[in-house]
Amino acid sequence: MAYISTNPFNGKVLQRFDDVGDAALQQKLQAAHDCFGTHWRDTSFEQRRTVMKQAAALMRERAPQLAELVSLEMGKLIAQSLGEVALSAAILDYYADHAEAFLAPEVLPTSRGTAVVESQPLGVLLGVEPWNYPYYQIARFAAPNLMAGNVVMVKHASNVPQCAQAFERLMHDAGLPQAAYTNLFISTDQVAGLIDDPRVRAVALTGSERAGAVVAARAAQNLKKSTLELGGSDAFIVLEDADMALALKHAVAGRMGNAGQACTASKRFIVVDAVADAFLDKFQTALSAFVPGDPLDKATTLAPLSSAAALDTLLRQVDEAVAHGARVLMGGQAVAGLPGAFMQPTVLTDIDAANPAYAQEFFGPVALFFRVKDEAAAVKLANDSPFGLGGSVFTTDIDRGRRVARAIDTGMVFINSAAASAPELPFGGVKNSGYGRELSRAGILEFVNRKLIRVA
Ligand code: NAP
Repeated sequence: MAYISTNPFNGKVLQRFDDVGDAALQQKLQAAHDCFGTHWRDTSFEQRRTVMKQAAALMRERAPQLAELVSLEMGKLIAQSLGEVALSAAILDYYADHAEAFLAPEVLPTSRGTAVVESQPLGVLLGVEPWNYPYYQIARFAAPNLMAGNVVMVKHASNVPQCAQAFERLMHDAGLPQAAYTNLFISTDQVAGLIDDPRVRAVALTGSERAGAVVAARAAQNLKKSTLELGGSDAFIVLEDADMALALKHAVAGRMGNAGQACTASKRFIVVDAVADAFLDKFQTALSAFVPGDPLDKATTLAPLSSAAALDTLLRQVDEAVAHGARVLMGGQAVAGLPGAFMQPTVLTDIDAANPAYAQEFFGPVALFFRVKDEAAAVKLANDSPFGLGGSVFTTDIDRGRRVARAIDTGMVFINSAAASAPELPFGGVKNSGYGRELSRAGILEFVNRKLIRVA
């Protein structure tokens, strides 16, 4: 496995990193295990809070450098990179402030004696994380688990090694013991070996269904808990009573944010007949206005995809969709004249259930457009997907919005907005989008032992 930092704007290799050898990996694992057993599990919430607060402060202090690294390694527009750093710092602060209350002992009413449920840490946890939000993804894994008294080892995606190192450095500079947070440049075989090792107690993966299935199967063979945050193909439903300007604003942001490379990006636009033409016309006009360029240039609005390989995959998906009868309303090609991995904003329509695109996730600026008769047809289509991550519904009737939200088979539904993440909102899905939750109180309860202590 090669950890290579490449700028997707121009294809230039920035830095290469070697995998850690097996012997060194064993040492790191033993150090993490010792750190848990002899130190970190016994720290007070106050001690953990001090470190986590300092990490959040450092993150804000280093925001310009941290954001630049994201833009250089995976191509995110600099304003969005800065937004990601701010959100990640907010997650660190959130768990620093709330972990103690979330994990407070729970006294249970019982007829005889007393019964208390206490939350105890499990030990060494492994996080396998994706490149699309290089800091946010690891913040939402590391912050709750460190505050709960676990120690973490992180295998980040192989195309964002500089971000992975910068986050590790930040945690150590904030005062966290070295072995409480360990960044690992390791192969998938070494990931499997770690999951097999009794010192690793559980694993969290955010990424593709393919990787999720492999990692979860390995954890299951070892009778270990896993959480999976996988892909999505979120529906964006526009009903006839929607505020059209609002719907369009969120449709554009929901599809184009992070160059379309978000698990909860709006991917399937399902619009009722009465407003479909008006929506489509204005949606295409807005998408045509995106300007490709250097993500570090504030004037750029269309970022490159994270890699040349990501662009190839997306172009192949579009070609396959067209070969099965889809129509390209706009875009459909790589942006000409630029060396980077740029995809034109694209709208596809006439996608029937037999088209492979109907069930696929498009990880880039490609919108799938569907016209439906009414609300019931919109819900039926939204649910006819292997995924169940998020979704949006636009209507001026909030009761109606809630009714549609309840009928949509996903982990999250947003009424009158595209999906958005915040530290206090539980994040996760159902169906092929995975299981378990990150963020909020739910996120910190995934990897603790909820232990009953009964006094007779
Ligand atoms: P990916 O290939 O699954 O990579 C994610 C992570 O898993 C990387 O660290 C990768 O390492 C590792 N990995 C891949 N195969 C593995 C294996 N067999 N064993 C152990 N680790 C393995 O995902 P991606 O395609 O880069 O990321 C995009 C996907 O993630 C999309 O489907 C997106 O929707 C999903 N995602 C979901 C969420 C969510 O919260 N639900 C958030 C963001 C992204 P290498 O980089 O070294 O291959």
